[in-house]
Amino acid sequence: MAALNELSIEEAAAKLASREISSVELTDACLDRIDATDGEVGSFLEVTRDLAKAQAAEADKRLASGNEVTTLTGIPIGLKDLFITNGVRTTCSSKILENFVPRFDATVTAKLKRAGAVMIGKVNMDEFAMGSSCENAALGNTRNPWNPAYVAGGSSGGSATAVAARQCLGTIGTDTGGSIRLPASYCGVLGMKPTYGRVSRYGMIAFASSLDQAGPFATTARGAAAILEAIAGHDALDSTSIDAEVPPLVPSGSIDLGGLKIGVVPELLSVGLDADVESAVDGALATLTELGANKSEVSLPTSEYAVATYYIVTSAEASSNLGRYDGVRYGVRVGEEGGLREMYGKTRDAGFGTEVKRRIMLGSYALSAGYYDAYYLKAMKVRTLMRRDFDKAFEQVDAIVIPTSPGTAFEVGSRTDDPLKMYLSDVMTIPANLAGLPAASIPCGFDSAGMPIGLQIITKPLAEAKLFEIAAAYQDATDWHRKAPELKAA
Ligand code: GLN
Repeated sequence: MAALNELSIEEAAAKLASREISSVELTDACLDRIDATDGEVGSFLEVTRDLAKAQAAEADKRLASGNEVTTLTGIPIGLKDLFITNGVRTTCSSKILENFVPRFDATVTAKLKRAGAVMIGKVNMDEFAMGSSCENAALGNTRNPWNPAYVAGGSSGGSATAVAARQCLGTIGTDTGGSIRLPASYCGVLGMKPTYGRVSRYGMIAFASSLDQAGPFATTARGAAAILEAIAGHDALDSTSIDAEVPPLVPSGSIDLGGLKIGVVPELLSVGLDADVESAVDGALATLTELGANKSEVSLPTSEYAVATYYIVTSAEASSNLGRYDGVRYGVRVGEEGGLREMYGKTRDAGFGTEVKRRIMLGSYALSAGYYDAYYLKAMKVRTLMRRDFDKAFEQVDAIVIPTSPGTAFEVGSRTDDPLKMYLSDVMTIPANLAGLPAASIPCGFDSAGMPIGLQIITKPLAEAKLFEIAAAYQDATDWHRKAPELKAA
């Protein structure tokens, strides 16, 4: 039998419901696994051991009573360290928030608690979610569990590695331009970004507010869907939250993809794909076709401007959002003795890392007088065109299926001196963010170096249930998602 920490969420939920296992046992198995492997992988900024044990004991009581049991009751879940957690340090992997202990919970945190999930810890990320490799993390060092010489992907690197290394059964990350899907793809797990507005951003530390969106990581589509069911829904505390019912998202029974129309996007395939990625994605498309889907080509002509547009919009919004870290209200304070102005400058200089400073400068420039129309406004117009491209494509197909990234995980240090190259890791993921669409990455193979390859599925706004159905059907027919890295430590 698989070790408890290796179970999928739905397998564990079934065993918990039948009382074959307890949440305390499951949580202990995860904590043991973290102890044995986190030195190598570095998923966690903080393991909330005592809290997890207490929540597991509570969950066992709830399971015994049979009252208000959900699929997540008793399931250990890790949170990206930008979800505010009452009484638990929340750093965004930034020195500027190194000592920040919030006094309330984010809506996502609160909803997970209400569902009875066990919070096992806070996982690592690129500072303020800016990055594609988890190498911009100022407080932690996360490596790819398939090979520690390679990056985990970012910015939700710890969310991906914790699931890939079977340290917990699910995690939550955020995706502004690919930060859930890219690390999911690099680490060989499922990561899913819902429709913009599906999950409340209240209590989520902001990077680029018009794009930030929280979503689940798990090994299986059914597990990820169960997490999303728990955290999604309208929230009056977030003005961009969508006021729509969340339908059941977990696919049940055997799924028939007969008649499903899937689209491939030739423009996006011309960016120079690794040969291994191309053949793995072709293989996955063949599987979907065997399962009954019909493939056709759709066009997203504006996708060539996606990365440029994204960096204008996100840097502008980040420069505004990050204005609040000034040493007065939150976190670290440096240079107080020199007076207010000096303190602002010294705090921000010492507190922010290089990439964060780069984005603040880019954004301040883009928003400055005389440049707003040329940059930000224009970028917002391109966004509208991009959404129209997708609307048109979705008149022809139910889902778009493309690679998650042109390549697989790269070697640690190989792109840190070349920001543009780093930014280009997200060419395939950014379009869905700009259009606000649900999208997931699921494992579909390995390259010749043994690193995982991700398949991206994008659906219409609010069509998360359809997305999970396609992903689950693919997983029912294949076993890429069952492959786990062998870690040295045991
Ligand atoms: N890699 C992209 C960036 O650095 C995306 C980050 C994200 O989705 N949070 O901005």
